[in-house]
Amino acid sequence: MTIFTKIINREIQADIVYEDDVCLAFHDVSPQAPVHVLLIPRKPIVSLDDLSEDDTVLAGHLMMTVPKIAAQLKLSDGYRTVVNTGEKGGQSVFHLHIHILGGRNLSWPPG
Ligand code: AMP
Repeated sequence: MTIFTKIINREIQADIVYEDDVCLAFHDVSPQAPVHVLLIPRKPIVSLDDLSEDDTVLAGHLMMTVPKIAAQLKLSDGYRTVVNTGEKGGQSVFHLHIHILGGRNLSWPPG
């Protein structure tokens, strides 16, 4: 079980900004921008590599939820979404999550 499942189960505290039947979002404990939120499915999918055909609606729902959260957090000037996948992709928590970063100018390319 990852730390994100513990957040879903309310076993550890998080600053939750959005939730519905499929997913929830909370502030990252180590923010890399003035706004840094993580959007996760309730289903404990390890990474993008672990999505199955059964997850097609779930994956679409996650994408559709990103702009709702961005609007709620007033990121009208733009924001960045990041999904780190696997060790070399920089993934450190093995429960699928979308980073939503904003509130400053974000440079490209990322490190
Ligand atoms: P990644 O490196 O893409 O797997 O991202 C994992 C993110 O989870 C990092 O940005 C961490 O700062 C964040 N994180 C780890 N533990 C917690 C926690 N308990 N609450 C909120 N964010 C967390």
